[in-house]
Amino acid sequence: MSKEVSQESIQKIENFVAKYCNKTGTTTHPDQAITEAVVLGLARHRDTLGKPLCPCRFYPDKAEEIQHRTWICACDDMQIYKYCHCLLFVTQEGLPITEYLPEDHDGRKTYGLVQDPTPELGRPLRHKADEREEERKQRLS
Ligand code: SF4
Repeated sequence: MSKEVSQESIQKIENFVAKYCNKTGTTTHPDQAITEAVVLGLARHRDTLGKPLCPCRFYPDKAEEIQHRTWICACDDMQIYKYCHCLLFVTQEGLPITEYLPEDHDGRKTYGLVQDPTPELGRPLRHKADEREEERKQRLS
């Protein structure tokens, strides 16, 4: 992996990913290159911003973004819907879980219905789904 990113951050993120997979019943992507790229992106943000901001999105102002927890890994989408759009936390088949997403969500449109093989695990913020959906509708309007 790149020398620009500290080994300490890479190690921390790898540890987090392993624990989070266990906690949520998900797995990392079968294509190791995808997992490495996302881990590296998260570790880079940990080095530069002090927080593992999701590396798969564009932010007009990263310093402002980290004031909120929305896109700090594990992000709100993961904690509410168990949906990882970076494909870091997926099913054995390498698909992101889309079962809990609103039906018109991009994730549903892209991947179809992907059921959660371990519904008893994860989604600690599931009670915020209505609030999150309201925010999404406002962004789209
Ligand atoms: S989509 Fe969410 S859970 Fe997946 S890597 Fe990005 S921040 Fe982490």
